[in-house]
Order: sequence, then structure tokens, then C-alpha cells
Amino acid sequence: MLEIRTPESAALSQEQVAGITDICQRFRRIKGGLLPALHQVQFLCGNWLPLEALQQVAREMGVPYPYLYGVLSFYTMFATSPRGKHLIRMCESPPCHVNGAENMLKVLKQELGVDVGETTADGLFTLELTACIGVCEVAPAMQINEVVHGRLTAERVKAILDDYRAGKAPDYKELRRTTNPVSDYPASPDELSLLRNVDVIDPMSLDDYLAKGGYEALKKALTTMTGEEVVNVVKDSGLRGRGGAGFPTGLKWSFTRPSPIFPKYMICNADEGEPGTIKDRYIMEGDPHRVLEGMAIAGYAIGAHLGYIYCRGEYYLSMHRLQHAIDQAMAKGYLGDNIFGTDFSFHVQIQTGGGSYVCGEETALIESIQGQRGYPRVKPPFPGQVGVWYKPTIVNNVESYSSVPDIIIHGADWYKAKGTEDSKGTKIYQVVGQVNRPGVVECNMGRPLSWLINDIGGGVREGRKLKAVQPGGAASGFILPEHADTPLEYKALYEVEGALGSGTMLVMDDTTCIVDVVKCLMYFFQHESCGFCLPCRRGTRVLYELVCKVINGNGSEADLDRMVSLSKIMTESTNCALGWSPHSFLKTTIERFRKEWLDHVHGKCALGVCSKKAHAAAH
Ligand code: SF4
Repeated sequence: MLEIRTPESAALSQEQVAGITDICQRFRRIKGGLLPALHQVQFLCGNWLPLEALQQVAREMGVPYPYLYGVLSFYTMFATSPRGKHLIRMCESPPCHVNGAENMLKVLKQELGVDVGETTADGLFTLELTACIGVCEVAPAMQINEVVHGRLTAERVKAILDDYRAGKAPDYKELRRTTNPVSDYPASPDELSLLRNVDVIDPMSLDDYLAKGGYEALKKALTTMTGEEVVNVVKDSGLRGRGGAGFPTGLKWSFTRPSPIFPKYMICNADEGEPGTIKDRYIMEGDPHRVLEGMAIAGYAIGAHLGYIYCRGEYYLSMHRLQHAIDQAMAKGYLGDNIFGTDFSFHVQIQTGGGSYVCGEETALIESIQGQRGYPRVKPPFPGQVGVWYKPTIVNNVESYSSVPDIIIHGADWYKAKGTEDSKGTKIYQVVGQVNRPGVVECNMGRPLSWLINDIGGGVREGRKLKAVQPGGAASGFILPEHADTPLEYKALYEVEGALGSGTMLVMDDTTCIVDVVKCLMYFFQHESCGFCLPCRRGTRVLYELVCKVINGNGSEADLDRMVSLSKIMTESTNCALGWSPHSFLKTTIERFRKEWLDHVHGKCALGVCSKKAHAAAH
């Protein structure tokens, strides 16, 4: 839900005024430069945007102030009231929720002596909640400025705060990874493609990437293949979009390639806002040139000369490494003009997201790149015909682009031979929630879910029993222990009313209250609804209120049916996938955990989870 925030005033120093002028001069020359400019101005002003700074930006970027304010108020990462030196964002996404995020929030409030949205009296810390920071393998987690702190316990929270108070704030650029090394998870070397270089090469070294065959695929495509041949190889490989929708990648390219309208654009969707989804971060931090190489090959295939990487705002290290890789590739001629002496030129620009889940939707993302509020467009037309700057645009995910270099080198048959009849190739899966070793692994598609939970995730936490899995992301249905041998592929997961989605699996053990998790999910969707269309804007809110009503013991069995039917109506009447999302998890949980729902209707949470929370809230 959008909040109305009136910007507060603050006198700017001469240095700040000069700095804002400098930022605006740089970004007004760049199409879509408004959001990156706002991010930099916010940093310059100490984590927030005073009214005076906004008025100066509006003047110097040549946009009306009401327009500027309208744009920034869409994005949760911008603040128009003062924040402390250290901004703490405590994650409240479902993976953090099932791992005790609420308790950690309580500890933070006690330690800091402030509530959410407040700043400590010494001006050191501001405490905020955030829908997701994309580090679910170390849940529960928080981010302080650019640095993530995960696996929180009460003791750890206190120690971290003490370090910051003592001036020992880590520098995110010095970190090897935001979270864990991939070597923590036992992958089969024969099944590695996307993560092959991660933790093996220095991600800041172009030479390391070249030594592993980097940019050979781009060279092969540019010097020995036509654009049409590249499209056909990718089409024949069976690669499907790895962002969640699973649309065949080569087919998408084949629609845009013949368009006579120029310029054409590539977009790499690095927004990765789906709770539980952490895979793209590993590629961007660990092997950034692979993303650029895949984008350049795709650009050649469809005839585009500029690509945007739209990266979620919380991924500071990813953006740092990608920008470094872009600079290196430009300097050595792997990006830029006349690559490998051909007449193909390709440039890449990073755009920073502002903390909006819906901007992972391709047309919302396009609006955001254009410096606007991230409202999803009405489709058709699809981006392939009318995309960024209203020109033909290909939008693919980080993992999809990163799959392309090996397909070009080894061919479509090599790729097709991996995976299943329905789902080709390798895929990065994520296992999060209540397992002993949450994390990521790349493998051929089609391995069973139980393998991911047990062999990679180390089994259900503390030897407890598996209760449910939400596969694919927050929008999927819940599946049961009896589905544990389901192959991790599109069709099989769909048949059990789950989804492959982004390949994340949220594991819940038998201490989890399903109704409590659904409340967390509904809170997330009503919070992230962009408000563009009424059935979603009101529908998500009404569904959240109905779940709360049931949890509070004031609901009825009819309310359960009402939730299923209202969410079904939303699948038919809302503009984008966010509005379609609640139906799957409401329907499957109400069908598959009906007794648990009915217990709540009768005022009882058998596991005591909801009753404990109600008790805590009352005191
Ligand atoms: Fe916005 Fe929801 Fe409509 Fe999507 S369905 S456009 S998120 S209001």
C-alpha cells in the first residue's frame, strides 16, 4: 500500500548543493536517469531526500516537482524524512518469517529503544521493515546500509549493533559474497554450467573469466553465425525463461528479431524480488562477465545495441561487480563499438530498482527504467513489440542470459540432453525455510524435490517432520510431504498445483502454522500491490483482512470459501500476475490444511503460534 509522505525540510550544505548539481548534470544526459540520480542524491544527503534537495533535482533534471514526487513516492527505498547514520532494514519475507524474524524485530526494538520507522536519539540507527532483501539462505536477516547480516539470534543482533556503535561497520565492497560461498552445497561437476566459475574465479578479474573460456561464445556468435542462427540454436535448446514464467527464450527472440522497428533494446531482469529467490545474486556477484556475455549475444541475435540491467536496489555488491565488469569489458573491446572487429556494437547500462516487488514484472520494470512509477502496462502489446522507450525490447532474467554462452559453445543438443522431456538444461534451485542448510545448487532439471531438501538442504531442521513446501515463490500453491518425490520441472510441479517459478522451495516443518504463513504472504501481496487496478488494490487488502479475521477467531467457514472465490475472481480481473497470485496458496492451503483453518475459525491455533502472537500483542 502506498503511503503519503510529505517531504521534510533541511538546509543543504554548499557541498551538497554542488554535489546535487554534479549528479544532475551527469544523469540528465541519460534517458531514464531520474531514478539513478535520486539514489545518488539520497546517498549524498545522508540516507534521505530533503525537500530542498528534491526541488533542486526537479529544477536541474528539468522535470516538474509534482512529477518527481509522484515517482519517488512509489518506491520504498526513498525516504523524505531524516534517517539515522545506519539504516536497518529487517526482512519480514516468508522465509525470514518462518525462521523467527518477528522475534528478531522484538530484540532490535528493545536494543535500540525505538519502534519501526523511528531513529535512535543519538541519530545512529533508523529501524525499518522490508518485504524482502533477497538473502533467504541466511534467514532471519537484516541489512544495515549496504551490508547483510544473517542467521540472526538475539546475541548476534546485540553484537552487531555494538560493532556499529564502536565504528566497526564493514565495507560491502570488501566482502567476498553477500552471504555463503556456493561450495557449501555439494553440486555435481557434470551438471554445472551457470555456477561453474562462481567461487572459482575472481569476479573482479576479466583475465580469470577469459582463462575459463569467457567471451569465446560471443566471438563464435559474432564471427561465425548469423543473428538468425543464434536465435535458432537457443530455440532448439529448449531454454525457457528462468525468471518464473518459463516462456521459451528463443521463441521470444524470434518474435522480435524480424521487427523492422529500430532501435531495439535488451533488458536483463535482475530485480529478483520473489521471496525465497537468491540465485541471480550468486551469478552477478560471482561471475558478472557471464551475464554481460549472454546479453551481448542476445543483442546480436535480435539487432539491439543497448542493454539495461535492472537490478534490485538492495543488491549493492552485485551492482558494484557488474559495473566493474562493464568497465573492464568496454576497455578491452568485449563491449562497446565494433566488437571483435565486426560491425556489431553493444553497450550495457545498470539501472537501480527502488524496492518495489511489482517492478519484477517486465512492463513495470520498463516503466521504472523510463524513470516513472512502476505500474505494469496493459498487455498486449508485449515488450517484444512495444517495450522500453516504446521500441521492441527483449526482457530476460539473469539466469536465462547466463545460460546462453554455453549453449552457443556446446550447441542445442548438448543442452537438450540435460534435464527432462518437459524441461531442458540445468537450473539453479534454492532450498530455503526450515532446513538445516538453506542455499543454492545448480543441477540438471528433473531431480526430485526430496533430493533438494535432503541432499542439498541437509534435511528438515532439527530432524523435524516435513509439513509443506511452497515451490516456485510466494505466488505458488502449497504441496505436501506426499509430493516430495515430484521432479523439479515445470510440468510435474504444475500437476501437483505447485509451480517451478524461480526454482525456490520454501520448506516448512511441523512446528509451522500454515494459517500464520498465509497471513504473512497476504500481508506481502497487499503491501506490494501497486494499486493500478481495483480488484487487486482492494482484493488483496480484503483477503488480508479475512485471514486476520480468521486468525483472531472471528471468522467463519464461509469466510474460507469467500477467500477462495474472491481470489479466483482476481485471477480473471486483475492486470498482472501479482493480482493472480493469492489464489494458488489460498486454494491449496484451504483444501489441504482445512482442519488447521477450521481450528482457527473456532479460535484455536493447535500449534500455539497465533495464540502466542496474540498474547504478545496484548501485552
Ligand atoms: Fe498493480 Fe495489482 Fe493491478 Fe498488478 S494486478 S497492476 S500489482 S494493482
